[in-house]
Amino acid sequence: MIVAGAGLGGLTLAHGLHRASVDVMVYERDQGPAVRAQGARFHIDDRGIRALRACLPPAQFELFHATLGGSSDKILVVGDVDGRLEILGSNSFTGAEGRPDQVRSGRPASRRLLRQILLHGLEGHVEFGKEVVRHERLHQGVRVYFADGTRAEADLLVAAEGVGSAVRRQYLPHAEVVDTGVRWLGGKTPITPGLRQTGLLALLGSSFTITDLGEVGMVLAAMRFSEPPVQAAARLVPGLDPGDIDDFLMWALIPPREMLGDAALASHTVSGERLWRQARPLVEEAHPSLRLVVEQAWPEQTYYLPLAASIPVAAWQPGPVTLLGDAIHAMPPNRGSGANTALQDAERLCARLIDVDRGERDLLEAVAAYEKDMRRDGFEAVNASMEALSGFLKD
Ligand SMILES: Cc1cc2nc3c(=O)[nH]c(=O)nc-3n(C[C@H](O)[C@H](O)[C@H](O)COP(=O)(O)OP(=O)(O)OC[C@H]3O[C@@H](n4cnc5c(N)ncnc54)[C@H](O)[C@@H]3O)c2cc1C
Repeated sequence: MIVAGAGLGGLTLAHGLHRASVDVMVYERDQGPAVRAQGARFHIDDRGIRALRACLPPAQFELFHATLGGSSDKILVVGDVDGRLEILGSNSFTGAEGRPDQVRSGRPASRRLLRQILLHGLEGHVEFGKEVVRHERLHQGVRVYFADGTRAEADLLVAAEGVGSAVRRQYLPHAEVVDTGVRWLGGKTPITPGLRQTGLLALLGSSFTITDLGEVGMVLAAMRFSEPPVQAAARLVPGLDPGDIDDFLMWALIPPREMLGDAALASHTVSGERLWRQARPLVEEAHPSLRLVVEQAWPEQTYYLPLAASIPVAAWQPGPVTLLGDAIHAMPPNRGSGANTALQDAERLCARLIDVDRGERDLLEAVAAYEKDMRRDGFEAVNASMEALSGFLKD
């Protein structure tokens, strides 16, 4: 089995297959595990938790679970009222099976920590510096070509390389990805005594919080580990370097598309420090506590993202290529579903492929069954996220 992309979905699938002794190799474009900051915090709900429990070695799952932040079940709207930050409103999460239009209750998770957990134990099964550029169907299976001129063959290629998927572009050229027009200038700030003294953290709790700064929107959410990652790793998986070790506040500014000279910032070559310098003037007029959040951020961890979304497509004939996560159903983050559906895909595909390995199912039949569920739930989540996007900051 070849998995293109060592993101959350691809690595979760690889763990599940590896644990079941199914041959799997993950090829990742990045030159190494630490070349990118890997984002900040994400909201994980029952779908993501179930998938990780099913696919990860139990001690690694325990480590992830022990470090999650407190329960997150509402979005807060905060505003400056006569110089004081106050809660202006709150929206409870009422999502559940069959309610993709609502956010499900969940908990904050550190992306960087999860990535470290996911990479552990897959040594020899993940190769970095391997950009998948194209593939070719063989009489049986598929041949994958890399940017460095090498190639590999397998029975099945799983495209898990995120929204820009090269495999999707070749395999399903009619499956389009569109620009939502929303821009996300995000960063991470350590929780210092100074920040704690502002009272902002007590106000936010573990809720996702939004605030209106006029032309620019601002999103805030704390990542406070229930158990310090270093302690939990030493207790549960000695030898695993947790990466993220300190509590932090995740923030993002949502400027109008053209405000910052979009094309220049979206490039991977722009440094975090330069992006942080762009962020500071955007909060110049904001409440002092919000200014402090940006001022005290780790500059190099600032990132800029144009948010994209997939256009759902009709069913296709199953073949020796399949897709999971953002590679086929990318969506804006306002329903907290992208990573959760990617993890759900990984769990479902893993179960089907284990059946194939045991001789209980034919490969194409397994791929067809997986894709049917993946399309239904993935595209449903895309539609729900897109419908809610226009009201993202006013929900
Ligand atoms: C700002 C923001 C906030 C979000 N918050 C949430 C949230 O709270 N909850 C939630 O559920 N979702 C959230 N999401 C969505 C979530 O991040 C994604 O849906 C999720 O990361 C998708 O996982 P994936 O494994 O499909 O792809 P990715 O995590 O994107 O991984 C793809 C991997 O493939 C690699 N790659 C790319 N091209 C190639 C290639 N050609 N060859 C080899 N490797 C390649 C990449 O380097 C990367 O490592 C958020 C998204 C954004 C942008």
